[in-house]
Amino acid sequence: MSQTPPGIPWQRTRRSRVLALAWLLGAIVVTGTLLDLIHPAFAALVVAIALAAAFLLGTEPPVTQEAAPAAPPTPPRARVEPAVGAVVAALPEPALLLTPDGDILVANARVAMAIGPARVGDPLSFLVRVPEVLEAVRTSAQDGIPRRVEFGERIPLDRWLEAHIVPLRLLEVPGQVRGPDTVLLTFRDLTQQRRVEQMRADFVANASHELRTPLASLSGFIETLMGPARNDAAARERFLGIMGAQARRMSRLIDDLLSLSRIELNAHVRPDTQVELGMIVAHVCETLSPLARERGVEICVTRPEEPVPVLGDRDELIRLFENLVENALKYGAAGKRVEVSIAKDGGGDALVSIRDFGPGISPEHLPRLTERFYRVDVVASRDQGGTGLGLAIVKHIVARHRGKLAVESQPGQGATFAVRFETLATQQKNSGLTEA
Ligand code: ADP
Repeated sequence: MSQTPPGIPWQRTRRSRVLALAWLLGAIVVTGTLLDLIHPAFAALVVAIALAAAFLLGTEPPVTQEAAPAAPPTPPRARVEPAVGAVVAALPEPALLLTPDGDILVANARVAMAIGPARVGDPLSFLVRVPEVLEAVRTSAQDGIPRRVEFGERIPLDRWLEAHIVPLRLLEVPGQVRGPDTVLLTFRDLTQQRRVEQMRADFVANASHELRTPLASLSGFIETLMGPARNDAAARERFLGIMGAQARRMSRLIDDLLSLSRIELNAHVRPDTQVELGMIVAHVCETLSPLARERGVEICVTRPEEPVPVLGDRDELIRLFENLVENALKYGAAGKRVEVSIAKDGGGDALVSIRDFGPGISPEHLPRLTERFYRVDVVASRDQGGTGLGLAIVKHIVARHRGKLAVESQPGQGATFAVRFETLATQQKNSGLTEA
């Protein structure tokens, strides 16, 4: 905000009013004289008086400090020390230095990226249209107390921000002794934090729900067995079977939850043990052959003759392929065949794909399949003993092995889950090492 020297506007207004009055009187008198309505001598007298009044009243004595109270000191931009500007520019978050009136003195480059284009000299309200932030800046500039305001924005993106308002005394303003002379305003993007909090809350809610359902069923059967079905041997037999299944479901869920948190814990540590992919995949198919037989599905495995060595965690890789092959057997059983292939692509990477010929997955579900507890069909998943965590575990294991997971599916034509890994040879080539 620019400052006008005190007294000047007032003086200018009064003089111009008197001059305008003198001109008006002069015009009336001259017109009256020309029309012979006024005597020329009288006209000359009136014009002389008007000019004298304009001269005397229009010239004001110099205005003193008391006559025009000084506006709150808003130091001009030139008074911001270069060092202060440099500190604001170096701050890791969007930061603005403001006058106590809320005009922009300094804005760092991050402001333009995160908040919008800031022009020095503009009021803050041109940049930030959040009344709570503007009010907090105004109040902090008056009482010198730092404030924090959280606010949400919907446009251009859904996001959450936090504004920190810190009143400061930075500038050398002669005559000013008290109160803040600048306000530092910084912003922090809380969107990611909020999303993580939301995901955590959703996860706990989902996990509790998943555990509560079999638990409620168990309690119901216990009550029935202790009450009306106490002496009913047939019912007891049937109920105990269901209770066993529910208990197994709970234990599967707990196992999956524990696996997920263990894998997440080590997510940043890339496994460094040499393992052979072909043997691992063949072992998984072997262990799942009873399930395949039970479902009437044939598993066809294709693997290269030479070994496919990768750096990996054997147990995690077994878990990964178990989940994918088991899903193919569970959800794609109608296709009667599951093809598992291990191959090396042109670039030397290892590609393991698991293809079934079942009902497939509609395209709208594909991007969400690896979310925790996401199921295309909740009832079908529960009927198959699913926990909704299998593909989330797969995603995390693949990520830990720095691999890539791809899903392709056409409804009615089955689904293909493919995992790509760097082989040991590619890894050594990429890291500049060559085999001896
Ligand atoms: P679940 O424990 O329910 O099997 P997953 O995370 O392994 O959980 O899979 C998530 C969902 O993806 C499943 O509930 C199922 O709806 C769908 N799905 C996974 N694999 C296949 C497949 N091969 N064919 C069809 N749908 C599948």
